[in-house]
Amino acid sequence: MTQATQLKAHSTTAAFEALKCKECGAEYELKATHVCEFCFGPLEVKYDYDLLRRTVTRETIQAGPHSIWRYRPFLPVATNTPIDVGTGMTPLVQANRLARRLGLKKLYIKNDAVNMPTLSFKDRVVSVALTRAQELGFTTVSCASTGNLANSTAAIAAHAGLECCVFIPSDLEAGKVMGTLIYNPTVMSVHGNYDQVNRLCSEVANTHGWGFVNINLRPYYSEGSKTLGYEVAEQLGWQLPDHIVAPLASGSLFTKIYKGFQEFVEVGLVDAKPVRFSGAQAEGCSPIAKAFEEGRDFISPVKPNTIAKSIAIGNPADGVYAIDIARKTNGNIASVNDAEIIEGIKLLAETEGIFTETAGGTTIAVLKKLVEAGKIDPEETTVVYITGNGLKTQEAVQGYVGEPFTIEPKLDSFERALERSKTLDRLEWQQVLV
Ligand SMILES: *Cc1c(COP(=O)(O)O)cnc(C)c1O
Repeated sequence: MTQATQLKAHSTTAAFEALKCKECGAEYELKATHVCEFCFGPLEVKYDYDLLRRTVTRETIQAGPHSIWRYRPFLPVATNTPIDVGTGMTPLVQANRLARRLGLKKLYIKNDAVNMPTLSFKDRVVSVALTRAQELGFTTVSCASTGNLANSTAAIAAHAGLECCVFIPSDLEAGKVMGTLIYNPTVMSVHGNYDQVNRLCSEVANTHGWGFVNINLRPYYSEGSKTLGYEVAEQLGWQLPDHIVAPLASGSLFTKIYKGFQEFVEVGLVDAKPVRFSGAQAEGCSPIAKAFEEGRDFISPVKPNTIAKSIAIGNPADGVYAIDIARKTNGNIASVNDAEIIEGIKLLAETEGIFTETAGGTTIAVLKKLVEAGKIDPEETTVVYITGNGLKTQEAVQGYVGEPFTIEPKLDSFERALERSKTLDRLEWQQVLV
């Protein structure tokens, strides 16, 4: 890094100016608060884009670390030493075999199944939230989680030396629970669904003075998802795609990819162009897809019942904003059932060698559905966001994959098994004792 770029990078430290209500525009100090006192709208971080335009270039970004922190001027932290556990800059994979299978030409997978440190996109939002939590003086951090957020919060809190107490619904997959416990936080497993966990956490946040990454720190936390927009733009050679497909839980991730693209246009890092935004939900928890399909502007909350637990939020906080973006960009929001989700997981694994969790299976299945309905043009450069890792939700595909051939440590035993394997349909593999 030259001295000039160092100075440039340094001078952008304080581009975040205030918290601003998304509904009425009221502004607030940069504290741990997330709801407007006047209209109860959600608060969002506001930036000085003139300052960013003057001080950030493609070169200053490329001279930064190989992590989300290369975009630090666009994130709501003041420190020069954020918590950097290598989060972000995950591969953007050209998915030619999946594209051919679906009849598309230019398809990319943004692969957050290999994000660091806990193999989901949540590491992005938590790296930002915990860095901000330290700046605001919190010593205990917490979250209401559908699984991945608990993994990230516990791991990154351990790295940063913060006290940690996380809340999860009691019916989560074993991999998600172990993937939290190993970091030795306090874990509250709540008899109830995510929406009930979230309500309990709102009460705890008011009484205990903890930093809840997705409650009182939510305006900072959610900004971390913008890096999924920045990275795709940079990895495409400083260009925006034509169409993106992403999963929807609360809807936050989806809206922040949009904000990320807009900001890069606003400060002159990429050329403006229309990008279509399409969202994916599981049929067993699809309040956003239903409202979109019925042309409604409000969400009717539902009780989740799907294998896609990581995106099972029945009362999604950013649902209406996600619908607005899908509509104004000429995109779609669709849902798929559990069988289609399993097929989606297998399709991505078999064509691209990427093992995703149920949220990723949902996204791939919705991609397929939209292509079949003619809602994605084969010529469009399409980016699909894969947000989590399949090793954490193995229960979902148990019984839907083949079994190994069990053989003796002898050549003829192997040869017989190999012959047998040729007579079996690949999808009908079963345990064969030779
Ligand atoms: C949390 C989560 C999402 C979506 O999160 P939003 O609440 O919509 O921001 C998507 N995929 C995975 C794997 C998740 O854990």
